[in-house]
Amino acid sequence: MITDAFDRPLRDLRISVTDRCNFRCTYCMPTEIFGEKYQFMKNHQLLSFEEIVRLTRLIVQLGAVKLRLTGGEPLVRQEIEKLVAYLAEIQGVHDLAMTTNGVLLPPKAAMLRDAGLKRVTISLDTLDNDIFRRMNGGKADVEDVLKGIRAAEVAGFSPIKINAVVQRGVNDHTIVDLARFCKDNGYVLRFIEYMDVGTRNGWVMDDVVTADEIIQRIDAVLPIEPLPRQYASETSLRFRYRDGGGELGIIASVTKPFCGACSRLRMSPEGQLYTCLFATHGTDLKTPLRGGATDDELLDIIAHMWKKRSDRYSEVRSTQTTNDRDKIEMYYIGG
Ligand code: SAM
Ligand code: SF4
Ligand code: SF4
Repeated sequence: MITDAFDRPLRDLRISVTDRCNFRCTYCMPTEIFGEKYQFMKNHQLLSFEEIVRLTRLIVQLGAVKLRLTGGEPLVRQEIEKLVAYLAEIQGVHDLAMTTNGVLLPPKAAMLRDAGLKRVTISLDTLDNDIFRRMNGGKADVEDVLKGIRAAEVAGFSPIKINAVVQRGVNDHTIVDLARFCKDNGYVLRFIEYMDVGTRNGWVMDDVVTADEIIQRIDAVLPIEPLPRQYASETSLRFRYRDGGGELGIIASVTKPFCGACSRLRMSPEGQLYTCLFATHGTDLKTPLRGGATDDELLDIIAHMWKKRSDRYSEVRSTQTTNDRDKIEMYYIGG
């Protein structure tokens, strides 16, 4: 097992399998930028499944035990269930999860489960259809996501996790409804503070609804109490409903950063490795991989990169707008 400059081990790998998406969320891939003419990566630029599996196997050797498939939208990558099956076979992997917007789940959920996917997190920011459509660039209705959630349940995924980004003046007045819906249906909801990822969403601190505010607003209607962290690198502050009706989490990466225990490495669709969600540059693994590097040579590159890792962006972020930095985009390295 290797550790970085702050003694943090490498435990999680997030694999972004595509830069494409069937949504245009305003906070991630705004339509004005990601329009018809936007040039996404060509197929030959993407790592093949064999290449992803080879790199993942090496990263697991260095300590990663949890894998998460993300994107872009992971379900738009053709035959993603095959990749799931290959990854599920890697010795030493304890957890294999996916984050998805859910609309392509109905025909895929059972296949993914059979292939070895253990958990699924589905993003749904609000139950108000007009607001939802505005947030996703007019690409889907709430009902489309609900169908995906139901398909995941039928396939046996349990519990289902729901991610909801909260933006002031956009969907923040609908958070109690979403919490009640998830509570009633046994879904584990995670509110996410709107983050300044990338450079294209025009993030300002005033748009962030803080974890404290989210907690207050939920607690006023559905009383909650804090739960202890389950493990050091857990990203979510956890709460349980006082009436015993399940739990809720908040990912407060803006107001309560958790860099101290951050053990996440991210792989881009074209084989760049990033040691932080807010990184400005990555380490290219595709060139050596395609140039004939041996496993030992690749292990050396990855280990060297991790050992000198000193990222702690969220702990040093200024409360001013930080879109002046040339950060990598969310759709490219996933959440
Ligand atoms: N397309 C999939 C989805 O939306 O679930 C997976 C990729 S998406 C980039 C992963 C997660 O990041 C989603 O839950 C999304 O809501 C969240 N996300 C994207 N941009 C964000 C931002 N600026 N702040 C906070 N969360 C964000
Ligand atoms: Fe697509 Fe997910 Fe980004 Fe929305 S958050 S645009 S669904 S990648
Ligand atoms: Fe990890 Fe970077 Fe997020 Fe801190 S800002 S928790 S180092 S990904």
